[in-house]
Order: sequence, then C-alpha cells, then structure tokens
Amino acid sequence: MLLENKVCVVTGGTRGIGLACVRAFLAEGAKVALWGSRRETVDAALATLRAEAGDAPVMGMAPDLTDAAAVASTLDEVVAEWGRLDVMVNNAGISQSTPLLDYTPEEFQKAMDLNVTAVFNGCQAAARIMVPQGGGSIVNTSSMVSLYGQRSGVGYPTSKFAVNGLTKSLARELAPAGVRVNAVAPGVTATDMVAALPDEVVARISQGIAMGRPGTPEEVADVFCFLASDRASYVTGTVVSVDGGALF
Ligand code: NAD
Repeated sequence: MLLENKVCVVTGGTRGIGLACVRAFLAEGAKVALWGSRRETVDAALATLRAEAGDAPVMGMAPDLTDAAAVASTLDEVVAEWGRLDVMVNNAGISQSTPLLDYTPEEFQKAMDLNVTAVFNGCQAAARIMVPQGGGSIVNTSSMVSLYGQRSGVGYPTSKFAVNGLTKSLARELAPAGVRVNAVAPGVTATDMVAALPDEVVARISQGIAMGRPGTPEEVADVFCFLASDRASYVTGTVVSVDGGALF
C-alpha cells in the first residue's frame, strides 16, 4: 500500500476533494486526522467513514486554520496520539465569483486568510515537526485558476497563485531537510457545488475541458496519494494539474 502506517492530516477533510483524499489515504493504509471548520461537520464525516469501515484509524479536529497557534497545537495533538507526522495536506479553501467593482475589502481578505494564511500556517507547523523528524510530504490544494486566472472573483485566483508561490519556495527551502512540498491544481471537480449545477451549465463548462466532463474528487485524490507517498520521492516544487486538459 502506498501510505502504509503514514500519519496524515487533511484540512477541509469533511467533504469534497478533502474527504476523497481521506478515503484514499485510509485505503492506502494511512492513519488520518481530518480537519474541518466545525465540530458538527467533522463528527458527521467521522460517522460516515466509520460506517464504511468501522475500525478505520481516523480522528477529527476543528481548529481555526487562520490562527497559527491553534494549527500548531492541533498538530501536536496528532503527534501525541500517533507519534509522528508524515503528510500534511493543506486543502481547505473558499472560492469567490464577485465582480471587481462589487468586491469588499473584507471579502478579498477572507480569501487571503483561508486560502493563503491558513496554508502558510499549515506548512510552517508541519515543517516544525517534519524537519527534526527527518522528512515528510506537504501537499497544498491549488486550482487551475492559478494558471489561467478567472473572469470574475479575482481574490480566488490571486490566492491560488500565492499557494503556488508558497509551494515552490518552500520546496526549495525544505528540500535539504527531506521535506517535499507540492501542489495539486484541480480543474472543475464534481464536488457538491458542481453536482448542484443544472445539466446545461455543466455541459457548457465541459466544452472548455478537453476530456469533455468535470473530474471526480476520487480522480483528484489519486494524485494527492501519489504526491504524499514515497513513490514521489524525487518530486518537489511541482504544481500538478488534474483538470482533464482544461482549455481555458
Ligand atoms: P468544498 O466546499 O466541498 O469543501 C471545502 C472544505 O474546506 C470543507 O471540508 C470545509 O469544512 C473546509 N472549509 C471551508 N471553510 C473553512 C474554514 N473557514 N476553516 C476550515 N475549513 C474550512 O470544496 P472542494 O471543492 O472540495 O474544495 C477543496 C479545495 O479544492 C479548495 O482549496 C478549493 O479551492 C480547491 N478546488 C476545488 C475545485 C472544484 O471544482 N471543486 C477546483 C479547483 C480547486
């Protein structure tokens, strides 16, 4: 198995791409701490996973990701329970679609806080454990908009360009310590948000995708699995597109 006995943390692990990563990591033999924004959604995700596989080595927490001290102390709880930290997935994120002239400073700041500062907090707190431990793998969730931009909601692509900058820079800084840092850039992925769209909207979006359809969270999670694992031992500082050949 790709991740046998690896201790992994997945932020935004209660649904969508994050929950698919949790499932894939568990299937590959990992122990997983899933983090969500609220205790209730964390408990609901844990209940679902335990219904699927009763003895799954999984736990859940809900720290404020924008609070560096809270992120660090919650990672310490994981290490206290399982002894180490092998994989940190900084996945939680929010998207925005507001046109520029309607943007509020608060809305722009919200994207920066969760999509950038929280990723920085996760990388720093993980590195403080992984560097003395002798290695680890950090995987950040970027987006195809970090390559193409988007027509509206400029805070979102701006934040994902920053995720790529964090990823590439920390890969260089942490490589001598054996810590790899990569990002996954999903295209349109059939999470709850996309599943709720009318068929004609999905069809229109799909015209901009070479493969003619949205991806599934499971297809995206498979790439996280690879980057998290030792099979990617010579891969660092990359942003891997998982977008079906987006043509935007
Ligand atoms: P989702 O909305 O289904 O899940 C988001 C996750 O983030 C949830 O687990 C939620 O609990 C968590 N989250 C949201 N706000 C939070 C907060 N303030 N504090 C802590 N956790 C919070 O989203 P998704 O589509 O699975 O997206 C996951 C990641 O993938 C995001 O970074 C998103 O930008 C990125 N992404 C998604 C798509 C897509 O099409 N779905 C495409 C490209 C990139």
